[in-house]
Amino acid sequence: MAPLETKDLEEKLAAALKQLEAVKLKAKEIEVERKKLEVEAQAKRDSINKFQTQKFQTRKNEEFQALNNEITRYEGDIRGIEDRELALMESAETAKAIIATTDKETQATKSQVERQLADIAAKTQALASQLKELEAERARLAEAVEEDLLDTFNRLFNNKTEAVVALEHDVCMGCHMKLTTQTVVRVKGAREIVHCEQCGRILYIP
Ligand SMILES: [Zn+2]
Repeated sequence: MAPLETKDLEEKLAAALKQLEAVKLKAKEIEVERKKLEVEAQAKRDSINKFQTQKFQTRKNEEFQALNNEITRYEGDIRGIEDRELALMESAETAKAIIATTDKETQATKSQVERQLADIAAKTQALASQLKELEAERARLAEAVEEDLLDTFNRLFNNKTEAVVALEHDVCMGCHMKLTTQTVVRVKGAREIVHCEQCGRILYIP
């Protein structure tokens, strides 16, 4: 799994989490506003109750009428508040649905990222142990090689990446130069280590 792919998923996850936070914040704001309206409506209801009591205590017709007007006005206010509360409750429902969907998506992306990261970790570990095996094998093989030749090999390998190259159609596959007949004969004889006259790489017949 390419790390780039994981990066994309991690970005997708971060975006989903950010969206989720934004929707949750919005839902919280709706709830605060709704509670505020609830308190407001209750205050109006308390006032109406107070006016009702005053209405039966007064003997003045004018005052009675004024209290009635106030009650009617407050009742209208309460209806207005209740309409706003209803609208907020609908918004809260919508927000709740968005939160549920986003939450689900976020969880799915999260487990996808986790699976990919675990996959990468497993592959890295496999490569590390493979490398360790190859290093051990190289050390074991190097033990069987003469010290001088090993030094030559290491020097060539470090300088030219390829220390041992094929000889094809009298040409060195390392530097692509044509070799002398004498060199070609020596390589074909396979009795000694022969180097390319041009680049110095060790030659062999494939
Ligand atoms: Zn060469």
